[in-house]
Amino acid sequence: MTYEYDRENIFAKIIRGEIPNDTVLETEHCLAFRDITPQAPVHILVIPKGNYVNFDHFGAAASDAEIVDFSRTIAKITKDVAVDPASGGNGYRLIANSGRDPVQEVAHMHVHILAGRPLGRMLQKT
Ligand code: AMP
Repeated sequence: MTYEYDRENIFAKIIRGEIPNDTVLETEHCLAFRDITPQAPVHILVIPKGNYVNFDHFGAAASDAEIVDFSRTIAKITKDVAVDPASGGNGYRLIANSGRDPVQEVAHMHVHILAGRPLGRMLQKT
């Protein structure tokens, strides 16, 4: 199995500092920043700094340290923005669009954290 990673994708440029971003948290292996077109009051993207195309690439090829850091980063952000249910928050949704059917626009692995309003059921019937 091969993954073609485009080094000129917009998130690669953000990681290299070539375009600005509204950083929420940076760790050794991850960067989290606010989505430029927010779909909810809280709309944060979490990306690994490594060159991974999507979630299945990341899950298969990333190191244990990268995977742990990614999960811990999401957990920390949900606490920092006070949406985690354990702290009395109203909760959040994670979305990882990977490939064509979910319409992944940026071919660098990312997870959306969405929160701050009722988000409805998981999917709309089409
Ligand atoms: P996806 O459809 O899962 O690939 O989502 C890509 C997301 O990246 C969209 O929600 C865009 O609004 C967001 N996005 C694109 N360019 C930027 C940028 N320069 N800064 C922050 N978010 C961006």
